[in-house]
Amino acid sequence: MSMETTAWTQLYSVMHAKEERRPFARATLRRIAGFARPHRRRIVRFLLLGVATALLAVATPVLAGKVVDAIVSGGDEGTVVRLALLIALIALVEAVLGILSRRLSATLGEGLILDLRTAVFDHVQRMPVAFFTRTRTGALVSRLNNDVIGAQRAFSNTLSGVVSNVVTLLLTLAVMLTLSWQITLLALVLLPVFVLPARRMGRRMARMQREAAALNAAMGTRMTERFSAPGATLVKLFGRPEEESAEFADRARRVADIGVRTATAQAAFITALTLVSALALALVYGLGGFFALRGTLDPGAVVALALLLTRLYAPLTSLAGARVEVMSALVSFERVFEVLDLTPLIDEKPDARPVPDGPVAVEFDDVRFGYPAADKVSLASLEEVAALDTRGGEEVLHGLSFRAEPGQTIALVGSSGAGKSTIAQLLPRLYDTDGGTVRVGGVDVRELSARSLRATVGMVTQDGHLFHDTVRANLLLARPGATEDELWQALGRARLAGLVRSLPDGLDTVVGERGYRLSGGERQRMTIARLLLARQRVVILDEATAHLDNTSEAAVQEALTEALRGRTALVIAHRLSTVRAADRILVVEAGRIVESGTHEELLAADGRYAQLHRTQFERPALDQAA
Ligand code: ADP
Repeated sequence: MSMETTAWTQLYSVMHAKEERRPFARATLRRIAGFARPHRRRIVRFLLLGVATALLAVATPVLAGKVVDAIVSGGDEGTVVRLALLIALIALVEAVLGILSRRLSATLGEGLILDLRTAVFDHVQRMPVAFFTRTRTGALVSRLNNDVIGAQRAFSNTLSGVVSNVVTLLLTLAVMLTLSWQITLLALVLLPVFVLPARRMGRRMARMQREAAALNAAMGTRMTERFSAPGATLVKLFGRPEEESAEFADRARRVADIGVRTATAQAAFITALTLVSALALALVYGLGGFFALRGTLDPGAVVALALLLTRLYAPLTSLAGARVEVMSALVSFERVFEVLDLTPLIDEKPDARPVPDGPVAVEFDDVRFGYPAADKVSLASLEEVAALDTRGGEEVLHGLSFRAEPGQTIALVGSSGAGKSTIAQLLPRLYDTDGGTVRVGGVDVRELSARSLRATVGMVTQDGHLFHDTVRANLLLARPGATEDELWQALGRARLAGLVRSLPDGLDTVVGERGYRLSGGERQRMTIARLLLARQRVVILDEATAHLDNTSEAAVQEALTEALRGRTALVIAHRLSTVRAADRILVVEAGRIVESGTHEELLAADGRYAQLHRTQFERPALDQAA
């Protein structure tokens, strides 16, 4: 490594060091060791390579000194040629070892990234929905990318940096001291003169870099928010573009200012380092030459010392920065472990079983539920807040019981916020109850295997999310092995075949956020097609019609009727036709079932349902009549 590269590395690490110097828990180190264990043979090989490289690095200057001595003492040509050949050979071996060791360190580092990344991904995937509703996606993704890479840097830097530098340093020093201890000590005296101010400057740089990072992040958030279609529209309608521009320019200017100062400081750092090592070199030549003239030192030793000195400063400066570098990378490890330590609230039991075959009933038995408080499901650092909200956890469902027989359709009605969607989410176990039991096919959902529950309970929500992928991929999610025929059949039954056929690439057209834009109704029919493909025995429908026009509503309606046929269904009903067709209607108010019965029964009772019927269902009926 050249001295210049080392200097950059050091300045970089000093600048990026975290200010706080808290001690790292032994547990963290033990866990890191745990991740390193599978790679231990490679690590040992890597360290051995490091020692070999260090030995070779010291050998060349010593041999060069011997050449000079041979010349000065008028030795034979053979010796000089042999020495030169040896130097060449060493250079060759050094080159090969360099490549090997780089390859090994890359294998180690990348292997570690691989392990950590897959561990975090698997773990995050198992987190409950509650976790994702709170977490900033950006923060989570950065945890998967930046921190994992930071952790890897700790690993390979401590190994290659610290270990091989210490070996090189000790060997070089030992050889220098045997050549001339006086010159060696004097050459070293200059070092603190340089390192101490550099550290102070490094800390100031670190503060500025953090400020720049914060400013950049703020600008980034601002841009992603303002430059999205809804954000840009809002600014055009209500915003104050001049003020926004001025504020943005202020931040950008500050970042520019920091950039100039950092560049200057870096230049000063490199210059100072070059200067100090040049001064030390002058000292070696001056003092060494003096000793050599007096005959107390061989001329070869002077040359060897000078060559060794240039190799001494590189590991010294890099070691000076190693501590902070290791510290900051350990922070990354901790941040990764923090995510791995979140316990998934909803997890499969080791002895989980599948849903029994045949038609399935669905049963809620005295179910109580409150959405979990933030501190139970999330991390402050992922929500980008200082402290987690400990509020919440208030009960939303207060002891709710009902039963849907196999093949029955149950309609849930009630005012907004009553708890209908919450009931729906408990069935596929997006959340677990706080009290009571939810059963599918007579078995507590907590006893069921996640795979079997997924295969049994299907859900169509209002927003009908589509991945940014082809129509085909979005459909295959529901049934990975579906044939072309089955796909078209499902599309046909969801009244989508015509649309998909008219798309530029048919089934292979990319849809979703940045792809081909489907309308709200089309999106919902796509999720219905998915549901039809999955052929689950229980379906949950949130049949919101808010963003559907009349024609697409009729199409959705038909598709829904199709989807419900022969299945046990829970429908959050917004249409009179669905409500009437239901085998039973449950009226939900403030987390309780306040009425239950058929349309006629409930109308006759003239209670809450009758009132809802007049306000919610009759108006659209009147509209349609009109
Ligand atoms: P409905 O579907 O009947 O309109 P919901 O089941 O969506 O009602 O909501 C019931 C209650 O639960 C409401 O008071 C709502 O504010 C609350 N709620 C819904 N979702 C969440 C959530 N993710 N976290 C916390 N509270 C929620």
